[in-house]
Order: sequence, then structure tokens, then C-alpha cells
Amino acid sequence: MIITIYVVIMGLLLGSFLNVVIYRLPRGESVILPTSHCPHCNHQIRPWENIPVISYLYLRGKCSSCKSGISLQYPLVEILTGLVFYLTYYKYGLSWDLVLFSLFGALLIAIAFIDIHHMIIPDSMIIIGLIPGFYQWITRGHDVFISQITGLVGLGFAFLLIRLVGTRVFKREAMGLGDVKFAAMAGWVQGWSISIVSMFLAFLSATLLFTLLIPIGVIKRKQQVPFGPFLCLGIWLGSMWGREIIDWYLTLFIAL
Ligand SMILES: [Zn+2]
Repeated sequence: MIITIYVVIMGLLLGSFLNVVIYRLPRGESVILPTSHCPHCNHQIRPWENIPVISYLYLRGKCSSCKSGISLQYPLVEILTGLVFYLTYYKYGLSWDLVLFSLFGALLIAIAFIDIHHMIIPDSMIIIGLIPGFYQWITRGHDVFISQITGLVGLGFAFLLIRLVGTRVFKREAMGLGDVKFAAMAGWVQGWSISIVSMFLAFLSATLLFTLLIPIGVIKRKQQVPFGPFLCLGIWLGSMWGREIIDWYLTLFIAL
């Protein structure tokens, strides 16, 4: 119980840092210095105003100095990161996998929100995302490595093809180059079989969201919507339950 609380608190704190990364990285600012300040009045955020979720509630979502609104995204990212840490701990227990997969989940959250705001996936984040793949390779050996290389090349080419065909059919950029690199990264980290599950889940979640949101007018039919957040969701679900999904899928055939 104490460990669970500790893990969640670590997640909330990292989520607070992710907010800084999401805001500053695409603007080319340092993610470490200077300390945070209100974007409206430059008021320097004091430590007690920087407690994940709690400060937001205490300040009622307003800057303590100029009273301008603080985006709901701040507590949302913190809660999401805490939740990802909790679920990863629930699945992997206290282990290196917990460290690796919770940080990987956090990276996916940052990528999702940066893509929502700026329609880009920074190369630096994709490079960081490759790290768990090296860990898999070193700890799990040659067979996994072959699967990872297959995933990297296979998904890279598949997404490149989607990009080329989609752009020709829709006569505008259909799949960003960032998405292509990101999918290839997932192939490298997860190996070909799990990464295919991840991509399936990404396309499925995008399809579900569009069928729900287009009729009620939240998203317009011609609107450019970043695919990165769906990739993030799919990849995260794949890294958590991809193996289980594959096993379940295979049992369907055995049952026949
Ligand atoms: Zn302010």
C-alpha cells in the first residue's frame, strides 16, 4: 500500500515535469531552467503552487497573482501520468520493467500532448523512445532482436506507404513524417507482433473517436487531426497488454 502511494506520487511529480516539457520543448526552451512562471504576468511559480493536482485545486485553476486561468491540461497530464505509473506497477510489480515501462508511458503522454498542440513529434523524443528497445535486446537476446528489426523496418515502410498513398488520395499530407518515424520506433521497442497490435489499436481508437465526434461536430470532417495521440494510446496499450491480446486472439482460432 505504501509502495503504491509512493509510485503514484512519483507519477504525479513526473507528470508535473512533463507539463514543462510539453510547453517548452517544442518552443526550443530549456526544460530545466529557468523556473516556471505564469505565461500571462510572469509571476514566478512558488514551490507550494507547484504541487501536482493539489495546487490546481487550491488555486481554483487561476494564477495566484493575475488570476488568469491555468489550463486544465496541467492537472490532467499529472493525473494521467500518475495513473500510468499505478497501472504499470499493478502489472509489473517492483522491477526494472516498472521503471522502464512507466517512463516509456510518460514519454508517450508528452508526445501525445505536443502533437495535439504543434502537430509535430520531436525527433529527440523518438530517439529517447528507442532506449527501451536496446534494453529488450540486451536482456532478451537474439530472437527478440530479429523481431525488433523486423518491426522497425516493417512498420517504417508500412507507414511510409500509408503516407504516400494517403497524400495522393486526399491531396494533402495524410500521415506526418513524425508518425512514420514514431511507428518505426514502436516496431523497434515492441517487436513486430506486439507493434502490429499497437497499430491496430491506434487505428481502432481513431476510428471510434471520429465516429463519435464528427456527428456531434467536435471535429469537422476536413479538419487536420494529429494521429500521434492515437499512436501513443495504441503503443501504450500494446506495451501493457499486447501479449495478452495476441494470446486471446490465438485462442479464438484454437476454439474453432
Ligand atoms: Zn499570472
